[in-house]
Amino acid sequence: MTAHETDKYVYDFAEGNRDLKDLLGGKGANLAEMTNLGLPVPPGFTITTGACQAYLATGREPDGLAGQIEAHLEALEREMGRRLGDPDDPLLVSVRSGARFSMPGMMETVLNVGLNDRSVVGLSNQAGQNDRFAWDSYRRLIQMFGKTVCEVPGEEFAHALDEAKRAKGSTDDLDLDADDLRGLVEAYKKIFAEHTGREFPQEPREQLDLAIRAVFESWNAERAILYRRQERIPADLGTAVNVVTMVFGNLGPDSGTGVAFTRDPGSGAQGIYGDYLANAQGEDVVAGIRNTVPLQELEQLDPKSYHQLLDIMARLEGHYQDLCDIEFTIERGKLWMLQTRVGKRTAAAAFVIAGQLVDEGLIDLDEALHRVNGAQLAQLMFPRFQLDHEIPPVARGIGASPGAACGTVVFTSARAVELAAEGRSVILVRRETNPDDLNGMIAAQGILTSRGGKTSHAAVVARGMGKTCVSGADEIEVNVPARRFTVGGHTVGEGDVISIDGTTGKVYLGEVPVMPSEVVQYFEGSLDPAHVDNALVRAVHRIMTHADARRRLAVRTNADTGADAARARRFGAEGIGLCRTEHMFLGDRRELVERLILAATDADRTDALAALLPLQRQDFVEIFREMAGLPVTVRLIDPPLHEFLPPLEQLAVNVAVAQERGEDVAKEEALLAAVRRMHEENPMLGLRGVRLGLVIPGLFAMQVRAIAEAAVAVTRDGGVACPEIMVPLVGAVQELETVRTEAEKIIAEVVGDSGVEVLIGTMIEVPRAALTAGQIAEAAQFFSFGTNDLTQMGWGFSRDDVEGAFFWRYLELGIFGISPFESIDRDGVGRLIRIAAEEGRAARPGLKLGVCGEHGGDPDSVHFFHEVGLDYVSCSPFRVPVARLEAGRAAIETAGSDSR
Ligand code: ADP
Ligand code: MG
Ligand code: MG
Repeated sequence: MTAHETDKYVYDFAEGNRDLKDLLGGKGANLAEMTNLGLPVPPGFTITTGACQAYLATGREPDGLAGQIEAHLEALEREMGRRLGDPDDPLLVSVRSGARFSMPGMMETVLNVGLNDRSVVGLSNQAGQNDRFAWDSYRRLIQMFGKTVCEVPGEEFAHALDEAKRAKGSTDDLDLDADDLRGLVEAYKKIFAEHTGREFPQEPREQLDLAIRAVFESWNAERAILYRRQERIPADLGTAVNVVTMVFGNLGPDSGTGVAFTRDPGSGAQGIYGDYLANAQGEDVVAGIRNTVPLQELEQLDPKSYHQLLDIMARLEGHYQDLCDIEFTIERGKLWMLQTRVGKRTAAAAFVIAGQLVDEGLIDLDEALHRVNGAQLAQLMFPRFQLDHEIPPVARGIGASPGAACGTVVFTSARAVELAAEGRSVILVRRETNPDDLNGMIAAQGILTSRGGKTSHAAVVARGMGKTCVSGADEIEVNVPARRFTVGGHTVGEGDVISIDGTTGKVYLGEVPVMPSEVVQYFEGSLDPAHVDNALVRAVHRIMTHADARRRLAVRTNADTGADAARARRFGAEGIGLCRTEHMFLGDRRELVERLILAATDADRTDALAALLPLQRQDFVEIFREMAGLPVTVRLIDPPLHEFLPPLEQLAVNVAVAQERGEDVAKEEALLAAVRRMHEENPMLGLRGVRLGLVIPGLFAMQVRAIAEAAVAVTRDGGVACPEIMVPLVGAVQELETVRTEAEKIIAEVVGDSGVEVLIGTMIEVPRAALTAGQIAEAAQFFSFGTNDLTQMGWGFSRDDVEGAFFWRYLELGIFGISPFESIDRDGVGRLIRIAAEEGRAARPGLKLGVCGEHGGDPDSVHFFHEVGLDYVSCSPFRVPVARLEAGRAAIETAGSDSR
């Protein structure tokens, strides 16, 4: 005997259970579970995923499989008292695929396997001379077998069916009688033969074997492969195959088939939700061939089955302790269960149901927390369009940042700011956005671009701001100079109103009605969960409270202004993890920055810095006040200075024009020269971060002084300020040492005996810093991982260049499951973080570790940061609740796996 012959490839339903999903697939495991609960499941067996794996590896059925199928089939035949396809009294079966994860793109189901020209007569006799039923079942077999096993185009069969109905002068397949259906079988067989070059197989066992093999092979169908890559489902799992005794919902008006949910999967409300279709076989319900009736109507049609079904649904809920969805069939007044699983639900329903199940004592709060997630919470925080509007979209782009926005179209940042100041809601429309559009994006309700993808500037910035964005709507032709865009024959100009849906990517002309998010109202404090009758708000409140109690990670926010800080605090932020100082160099301060850059002498430079100092100090005072004693990490200036100057082309034109007019061009020429001098081939890898501080005397010193003075001022006023100064882009401990020595001197001088304590730490965002973290920790009181730059430099990607250029291809090829800028690349960039955390803490026990950057608000990344042992994550204000929730989930999940 070879090893293979001893493998068990086939399990009777009575042998399996719900924990065997890897082996039996989801459908098979749950059919077994229901069988063992004593529920009415038609007998059958499951061929394992292992058999599929073996088949795919060798291109043939593994040794032993045929014999095991034979044995289980014989047992089934004995149990049912019929033989497969017997001409007088045939046993019929369905062949159903069912993998570990439900997967579109795999073979579906073949019903009525075992019917042929002879057994169709037997089936009719068995059903009390019901010819119509028998021929209806046969034509369905040829149709499904042809389509799914032999790849005959489905339209051919659909067309022949329409033809038969037309001949009958009807649109309802129930009007076709036995003779019509017999004729249809002939037509179907012809179609089958034409497309496959062979007759429809008459041998029942051959039908069964071909169907099983087709299920195996569907695992490697192109669509299935693509889906797996994108969803990160391993390619080698394989699918199971279920062979199930047929029961018939098409035996007459006392038969039928349906689907049901144990609660409303849309809202989570308790009640009976489902559809029923009399005198039909399974596929008809979903195919929408005839109109289904609400499940409640079954109470009139067949009260006994209806009440039995309700009992079973209650039992399944109690057993699975969750919402279940169900597929069932009634054969002449007898109820059969054909499938169940823990059902999909909307984000709102997920929270509501978890809360209800806690109330009902079925699950505890940890389990409730486990069953919801940050992506769902994020979804609930965006406004959305009312569900019942009927306005057709004019274009569809990528749903880059969820939410619903409607407003007046503008094409420039300046116009967006103007109209917003008048209290108008605006949608900024651009081909693509760049950093100059920032003010316009802040002012706008939503952003629409005709270029770029999920990771373009517009998409990324909008997500950070929690602002609705549709990107890459390429049917739209944007003409900024003319201030209009065209789409599908429409021309939309500045001032016209459009609506965009950042979840679906749809673009509408005119105003689609919007509903605000109740969950945001709750976070902002305008909906009190104790006093509103809103199941969703109450559930969110309860679960968030539990997450906060459970989480070990603190959650801070990225905020550059007092207003951002205030909002983030309402959302639960426990400090600022990243306060960028560069915006403080923009607007009316640009001129001072230009003076600084153009400074010809030390005195010029010192003057410019001295003028900037009080402005910076005031910025920090506001933020420290707002954060009232919570830590505030301030990053010293990071971007290359030429970002603060006008673009080269513009300066060149200015100079030329001014010369033409004979005006004084000294300043413009100096700026132009500075821009030329400062040009960099790779600005991302150029003069920025700590390098600026080391090259431009007094720059960092001014910022450090502003921070320290602001902290002292706030303290003198009776407040508490906890500043943490963060040095960006450090790669070597010597860089940090140099900055620190100078900073400490200034701090000591400013702080005196005020009691203010200022920490000095660094970002870890250059791979070398991560790899020498043990040395750097000697000079740093904290590390904050700058995961954006760490990702850029870890992969050697320039984000602005790569996202538009080839990320789509990488995603398509499955090189990424998700952009590494959105979710941390655990294996590569994550490894750098792990090394730095471990070696940093080894050198300086208790070293404070955090992360700032978009990853801090990404659910999967939060779990990673918890695992690595960071102290906090920091993210944009809008993401703070998501991070709180996921930090709670990460804590209970690790606790769970420790005790297991
Ligand atoms: P899917 O995974 O697409 O839901 P299923 O294998 O569940 O496919 O089959 C679809 C439908 O076919 C089922 O909901 C059920 O109505 C019908 N069906 C499957 N097997 C049988 C059977 N043995 N008897 C009667 N109907 C069946
Ligand atoms: Mg199903
Ligand atoms: Mg950085």
